[in-house]
Amino acid sequence: MASRLGLISTFSFNQSFKLIPPSVTIFDMSKVFVRKAEYDYKTLKPVFFEIMDATAGNMIQKNMRVVIKPNLLAPASPEMAVVTHPLIIKAAVEYVLEKGARPVISDSSAAASFEKILKEGGIRNALEGLNVEFREFKTSAAVDVGKPFNEIEIAGDAVNADFLINLPKLKTHAQMLLTLGIKNLFGCIVGMKKPEWHFRTGVDREMFAKLLVKIYQAVRPSVTIMDGILAMQGQGPGKGGEPRNIGVVLGSSDTAAVDIAVCKMFGIAPDELLTNRFAMEQGLTTEIIEMDGDLPDIKDFKFPEIVTLVFGPRKFHGFMRRHLVQRPVCNDSLCRLCGECWKYCPAKAITHDKRKIDFDYDKCIRCYCCIEVCPHGALSAHETATGRIARRLLKI
Ligand code: SF4
Ligand code: SF4
Repeated sequence: MASRLGLISTFSFNQSFKLIPPSVTIFDMSKVFVRKAEYDYKTLKPVFFEIMDATAGNMIQKNMRVVIKPNLLAPASPEMAVVTHPLIIKAAVEYVLEKGARPVISDSSAAASFEKILKEGGIRNALEGLNVEFREFKTSAAVDVGKPFNEIEIAGDAVNADFLINLPKLKTHAQMLLTLGIKNLFGCIVGMKKPEWHFRTGVDREMFAKLLVKIYQAVRPSVTIMDGILAMQGQGPGKGGEPRNIGVVLGSSDTAAVDIAVCKMFGIAPDELLTNRFAMEQGLTTEIIEMDGDLPDIKDFKFPEIVTLVFGPRKFHGFMRRHLVQRPVCNDSLCRLCGECWKYCPAKAITHDKRKIDFDYDKCIRCYCCIEVCPHGALSAHETATGRIARRLLKI
């Protein structure tokens, strides 16, 4: 366990862990496997199995409990590119079964019921007849990740797994730029603990990225295989984003290396993605990765609009926060008053009457969770008119 997790147990029962300091982390140059793929199971399965063989080798042993962690953000059909495609999950399950091990599909969404996500995402259907357990992350183990967060509660099933297969979906993220392998592990924070962490890290993207890297260090997936076949561009990661066919699957035993490869594919510097920057600073990976296979040439990928959150003299921060940091806005014609956003909002900044919802922008911490969880694509992030004018005048 210690070698997979980088953890040492401080209690006799697996309830509390301490991270081994990064200085003892040892890695060779990471290899990332890049393969063209589509959602045709006959061709997808061998691609997936090849990457698993190359990255996991013989590590999956008979009777091992193998946790498969897809992106199960919210109920959405596979065509919306919000969740990991069911055929990718199916390939992972079949691989584990062929090894004689026990696959368990787990995640935690604060946005909707686990069962609803499995059904609407086509996962229940795709896995019918396979001997697989569906087990939502429900209980946490305390992991001491050191400063500045100290103890973080992370799904016990994730930190205790014999082997963990991380199956992120390649998507844009209005707050963090992209959500890839490391960000996918935020789903290992159980239920409503997620918005609590958003609240604690506030609008500070760097702080949130540091938190994500700490979670990554604690969970340390054995293998990460990214579903980049139908990806998401624009104002992701929820239904406000736009599906975009890329037709690629990327896999590695080094999650951060997969994220770095995606940045290279989009032609952006790897450290533009803050989680990469902190993973490299922590010595968890390096920008120099070995690629097995060719990255596709992606033109005109639409990144989300992100503004710098905290900059300039402190006395202007209030103005900047109000006008230059995009705020969530509701398209009332799409809103069905389902309540997901106000239930989830960690700052309790959303109120509603019988006709529409309202935001208290002084309370709102711009975490964009409401946009992420809205099942009807009614929310998006926008700058105020004053902000647009100020930006033009200040040339920022
Ligand atoms: S904005 Fe979206 S999540 Fe909020 S109540 Fe309307 S439909 Fe539901
Ligand atoms: S209103 Fe939306 S963006 Fe603002 S704090 Fe609540 S969930 Fe986050």
